[in-house]
Amino acid sequence: MFTVTEPGSSGGARRKPVALVIGSGFGGLAAAIRLGARGYGVTVLERLDAPGGRACVHKQDGFTFDAGPTIVTAPFLFEELWTLCGRTMRDDVDLRPMDPFYKIRFPDGATFAYSADREAMRAEVERFAPGEAAHFDAFLKMSEAIYRIGFEKLGAVPFDSILDMARVAPDLVRLQGYRSVHGLVSRFFRDERLRTIFSFHPLLIGGDPFSASSIYCLIAFLEKTYGVHSPIGGVGALVRGLVKLIQGQGGSLRLNADVRRILIDNGAATGVELADGERLDADIVVSNADSAWTYRHLVPAGERRRWTDAKLDHARYSMGLFVWYFGVDRRYEEIGHHTILMGPRYRALLKDIFVRKKLAEDFSLYLHRPTATDPALAPPGCDAFYVLSPVPNLQGGQDWRVEAEPYRQRIASWLEANCLPNLSRHIVTSKVATPLDFRERLNATHGEGFGLAPLLTQSAWFRPHNRSEEVKNLFLVGAGVHPGAGLPGVLSSARVLDKVTPHARAFA
Ligand SMILES: Cc1cc2nc3c(=O)[nH]c(=O)nc-3n(C[C@H](O)[C@H](O)[C@H](O)COP(=O)(O)OP(=O)(O)OC[C@H]3O[C@@H](n4cnc5c(N)ncnc54)[C@H](O)[C@@H]3O)c2cc1C
Repeated sequence: MFTVTEPGSSGGARRKPVALVIGSGFGGLAAAIRLGARGYGVTVLERLDAPGGRACVHKQDGFTFDAGPTIVTAPFLFEELWTLCGRTMRDDVDLRPMDPFYKIRFPDGATFAYSADREAMRAEVERFAPGEAAHFDAFLKMSEAIYRIGFEKLGAVPFDSILDMARVAPDLVRLQGYRSVHGLVSRFFRDERLRTIFSFHPLLIGGDPFSASSIYCLIAFLEKTYGVHSPIGGVGALVRGLVKLIQGQGGSLRLNADVRRILIDNGAATGVELADGERLDADIVVSNADSAWTYRHLVPAGERRRWTDAKLDHARYSMGLFVWYFGVDRRYEEIGHHTILMGPRYRALLKDIFVRKKLAEDFSLYLHRPTATDPALAPPGCDAFYVLSPVPNLQGGQDWRVEAEPYRQRIASWLEANCLPNLSRHIVTSKVATPLDFRERLNATHGEGFGLAPLLTQSAWFRPHNRSEEVKNLFLVGAGVHPGAGLPGVLSSARVLDKVTPHARAFA
């Protein structure tokens, strides 16, 4: 047993088994807290110079930009982590509910305000397509049925064995999990715009609404029931809060610690080796690095029977993201916190991104204006924004060193013409992230935003398991394992670890 020592109450020393967590994304931080609560001495090893992974924070010229997730739902999954440490989230994070959750704008200027309020939603649906309000009720009922099984039952348990899959197959068939999200939504709504409004959610976790399993229709009920929230200080406040919990447990976070390989002896993980050659011993290792990357680069080929390089080559990866972070020296009060700007094409654009892997002339955008909720994220009188465009991952062959600036300019001109008047005169700071950054900074195999694509054939037992099927005492957490990407997904993957990791006392 490898141990860290902590002072005992009588002045003696108590020994704790060691857990090393590779990566400080939300999944890694949540796993560290859960392992700390179960008696491990935990060290989180992060290759970057700041924690959070996709949720890291850029500070530039007085502006604070959350790099990634902005729509926070299922706050109870965060609250659980504070509870495990004997605290309440409110002590550290001021989470504000969003109302509406977001606005969805179509090219003709029509805007749909999406909220938790059932009557307001029925009225919005009816305004868009008279006669469809009853269809919304039926859709929500179906979303709840999927949530009860897909989130509460399947999302909370490991899928170690094909028998686990066989057990849930009848539920998946009954809930029509074999259909795509758009396919199922289209059975409820006749109006194309309503089909778009109720089917775009898989894009939040990197999936194509036309191929992602309809299980993801559960998001509508999840958001309606638990709301969409935004922390004061930005999503970075949640990252800082979790790091503080780890430190409060006696755990530690090491930045600039790039893990080069997982040390394996006799089929079991025994520690890690860092890029500078330093070796760290452990009783268990948890990887929050991308699952495909973990297997291909951190576990030697000779140790892998299932996740071979050939299988990883044939896997389907989620889409890429182009994100432009910019600050302006004025405020655009008419723009809410979250706006989805639909382009002229929906199905055809998604086909370009996911199937043809082609960078299209048009785009659909998500515009984030956090200063609508927390003006302190920008200097006085200014606004911080980011605009996100789903794009092909690097399998599309685009050279983002060449494409990035013209693409940014196209988006800027569109925003200026359609919703941010005189934008070009007011930009005072700017930074972009492309799929290349996702590959180079975050070790995403093809620069994808969200790990393996959320297809039925890559879900549950078919996804890399939370308990490695290749190496004993190695566990995986985060977007690339069950149940999948997005904050509720990665926090749930950490929760599943409680069921598959031994309690620290097993090493006593
Ligand atoms: C732009 C964007 C917007 C998004 N919006 C939303 C949203 O609004 N709501 C939502 O719910 N989800 C959203 N998501 C998805 C969500 O952010 C991710 O699914 C989630 O944060 C991923 O967490 P993770 O635990 O998988 O770890 P990641 O965030 O992927 O972090 C993994 C960490 O591992 C580190 N690492 C990798 N290799 C090594 C190594 N060898 N050694 C040491 N460290 C290593 C990386 O540096 C990284 O810090 C968004 C994602 C992006 C990119």
